[in-house]
Amino acid sequence: MITPDRIVPTTCPYCGVGCSLELHIKNDYIYKVTSPFDAIVNRGNLCVKGRFGYDFVYHRERVTTPLIRTKAQAPGARTQAFERDQWREVSWDEALDYTADRLVEIYNRHGADAMAVYCCAKATNEDNYLLQKLYRALFRTNNVDHCTRLCHAGSVVALQMALGSSAMSNTAAEVIHSDVFLVTGSNTAETHPIIALQMKAAVEKHGAKLIVVDPRRVEMINWSALWLPEKPGTDVPVFSAMAHVIIRERLYNEEFVRRRTEGFEDFSKSVAKFTPEYAEAISAVDRNLIVRAARMYAMAKNAAIYWALGIPEHSHGTDNAMALIHLALLTGHIGRRGTGLNPLRGQNNVQGASDSGAMPWHYPGYQRVDDEAAARKFEQAWNLEPGALNRKLGLTTTEIMSAVGPGGVRALHIMGENPMMSEPNLNHTRQMMERLEFLVAQDLFINESGAYADVFLPATSWAEKDGTFTNTDRRVQRVRKALEPRGESLPDWEIVCRLAERIEERLGRPRSAFWAYAGPSEVLEEMGRVVPEYAGVKYRRIEKQGLQTPVWDEDHPGTPHLFTETFPRGKGKFHPLEYVAAVEMPDEEYPFILTTGRLLEHWHGGTLTRHSKLDDLYPEARVEINPADAARLKIEDGQAVRVSSRRGTIVLRAWVTERTTAGVVFVPMHFAEAAANLLTIDALDPLAKIPEYKACAVRIAPAKKEELARPEGKVQRGRY
Ligand code: SF4
Repeated sequence: MITPDRIVPTTCPYCGVGCSLELHIKNDYIYKVTSPFDAIVNRGNLCVKGRFGYDFVYHRERVTTPLIRTKAQAPGARTQAFERDQWREVSWDEALDYTADRLVEIYNRHGADAMAVYCCAKATNEDNYLLQKLYRALFRTNNVDHCTRLCHAGSVVALQMALGSSAMSNTAAEVIHSDVFLVTGSNTAETHPIIALQMKAAVEKHGAKLIVVDPRRVEMINWSALWLPEKPGTDVPVFSAMAHVIIRERLYNEEFVRRRTEGFEDFSKSVAKFTPEYAEAISAVDRNLIVRAARMYAMAKNAAIYWALGIPEHSHGTDNAMALIHLALLTGHIGRRGTGLNPLRGQNNVQGASDSGAMPWHYPGYQRVDDEAAARKFEQAWNLEPGALNRKLGLTTTEIMSAVGPGGVRALHIMGENPMMSEPNLNHTRQMMERLEFLVAQDLFINESGAYADVFLPATSWAEKDGTFTNTDRRVQRVRKALEPRGESLPDWEIVCRLAERIEERLGRPRSAFWAYAGPSEVLEEMGRVVPEYAGVKYRRIEKQGLQTPVWDEDHPGTPHLFTETFPRGKGKFHPLEYVAAVEMPDEEYPFILTTGRLLEHWHGGTLTRHSKLDDLYPEARVEINPADAARLKIEDGQAVRVSSRRGTIVLRAWVTERTTAGVVFVPMHFAEAAANLLTIDALDPLAKIPEYKACAVRIAPAKKEELARPEGKVQRGRY
């Protein structure tokens, strides 16, 4: 029995559920993680990542000294450098001076459009607020984005258009107050395991009925009353057909539609053609299932909708999310406990990074950069002269990558993200990374993207710094320093401030108090002065448990569910939709639809989980293929196969499983040696600019075992 030196309460660094953790520390090492039974989010429950995934903090490959590349990189000839002899250890002063010199030199030569930054959904609100401020205030660019663009951008745009707010409307735990809830585009049991526990309890203990709409046989189907197994990319016909049934059978809430919405008449006409028969022909979902789902959802006293990346990650992802919003507007299942529109956020702080302004079209708090009053407000708050801030909308992550080169982006600063794993069509991304003139990587490890960098700035892990994360249901929670920083690593917020001071000096501004914060609590105080929803969030108020935004002032108790009386835009607005197929449909040459996503044991580009013991639990990528397809191709479970699209090829083992339906294959996104995004297509949603990760055409063929990255690896068997 070990007696801890201290037990430090903090928040999980992985998914958007935001579970409370207790880090048990002995001799400055975490030896155990528990969670208090009275934790408001997770009631003492943790998934395998939160419980066991902390040892990346001590991994031997972690970089804890600033590094500069030994050989200068020419644009067009940049290469990956993982080995230590390709880097030179330097002091913080040398690394930051070098970074500031190069960034300012490029800015002076080519202007604001040459500069770009990827903020980070893993980092704290304070880290993100400061990094976007640095690039906006000093380099006058709005080329600021982060991976929300690659996950829920379609949901954000649709919710803003229809309601004027993009956050999850209700608290996840309210699912036990739902009579009916619909889960779509979400493998909740693997991606948000603790919310899945609450959903299972809603069914088992409270008698709620679950409707799952998903092309994969995800685990939650075992708890469902109805499963609608749609073809990937056919959400608009399925949900519009549900709306059609609700209107045709007059199951909609006439009083709510009249009082709280606009555009119903046009919308009603637009769904006339979306009959269940029409939807069945496109989606392969039985028309009777669509009718039953529509009646079940509409006739419930309280019904909620939960969705994840299977909805927005399409070239028509905004439409998909809009089709779901229509169901809530028709029935009035919003604005009350146990109802709502709930886009489940993937990463620990993707909600907070967005709130903090890590977006190209918005300052912190979703205030438009092209709104003159908003720009003036931030100029005053950041002590800038009138007109200093750029009013032009910035580039999104994928647009930044496509804009690299002469006349476009030349310098890129990446804090904690890994575009060489997360961008679609990675062969294209690689070409763009090679063309950069200067690349700054700020991270814990030299990952696939950091290996292209000119300078590496070693950041502390979440366990070595203070700050806040905002979870999927808008709860701002404390992150606490439990360990001394490893080596010379520094908290991201401090790296940004030290760099900003140097840049300010080189730009001819006198060093000011602009970047002098005593600690991250002062950064959140500043953010609260410019973001009304955070005005009442103070460290002293969230010591025990977090507060759900909006928190309008220091007496405000927070907001468990939104839209009780009204929507931020006034009335909820229907937007008539058309069905548009995925950009790349299967054909003779590429007969399968590929869909990609996450696994329980891993997380995003794998930078953290693949440096932890979680990697032993699930050490290599496998492509999930339906038994009928496998039999036809004479592919056996565990066999090496080659999966190819028009953009690339990967070799990995097959997992023959009913988890995926016939004609659809699934590849997880975490494994660099069989990177799913070598295959995906970089077609973008025209409004949200989110790529179509969830549908492209591929073919599968047997490969030789020797072609596997781990030919001698143990063949795993299915979990379920
Ligand atoms: Fe962490 Fe998410 Fe697991 Fe909770 S459910 S322990 S937040 S990874």
